Amino acid sequence: MERSVLIVEDEASIAELVALHLRDLGLKVDVAADGRRGWELAEQGSYDLIVLDLNLPEIDGLELCRRIRAGDRYVPILMLTARSAEVDRVLGIDVGADDYLTKPFSIRELMARVKAIFRRLDAMRPQGEDLSTLEIHDLVIDPSRRRVLRHGEEIYLTAKEFDLLAHFARNPGRVFRRAELLDSVWGYGHDGYGHTVNSHINRLRSKLMAGDEDPRYILTVWGVGYRFREPGEEVSEPGP
Ligand code: CA
Repeated sequence: MERSVLIVEDEASIAELVALHLRDLGLKVDVAADGRRGWELAEQGSYDLIVLDLNLPEIDGLELCRRIRAGDRYVPILMLTARSAEVDRVLGIDVGADDYLTKPFSIRELMARVKAIFRRLDAMRPQGEDLSTLEIHDLVIDPSRRRVLRHGEEIYLTAKEFDLLAHFARNPGRVFRRAELLDSVWGYGHDGYGHTVNSHINRLRSKLMAGDEDPRYILTVWGVGYRFREPGEEVSEPGP
């Protein structure tokens, strides 16, 4: 199945270079040179990836990313930013990009990120389109809308937090090492980035905790990694 990518980038030289290399990967590529055109195409098309520049004429990249995220269909978004200071915002819940690259970036790095995003998609959909809703403990996890409900209340997660939760919830009881989580959720093994996993898990845990309750879905396996509590399993160990 041919995959298609939308590039929204107003610098023609960058857009052409990225398009050229993505076509070399066998992808179908559309290019929009401003945010308005980008939005038109994103709305009509069913892209498998959107490479989105942050600073765009007409509609900027942050706004465009928000609009795409507000839609029903999930599409991975790789954001191109000029300043690393913007990264937290870009990946945050109100914008919701999946990954980012800071300009200037190497084509090699871009290709690695794109391949990683597709590998992650493949891993998440082992039977092609496993978007069935998961119900575990008191959580309802809907991969097609990328939404999580607890007692009917939506829990707002970033793209990575959602991926982590879905990955755990599909494999209750299984112990994951940090390197494994980096590989399957982030899609690229980067040595020494175990703290990235830890900080995402800590944020995810605090978002899943309501008030004084401590549902403890994700348990620490000391010296190894993490695992998701199995249905019916009592937790007697001290908190995370
Ligand atoms: Ca730009």
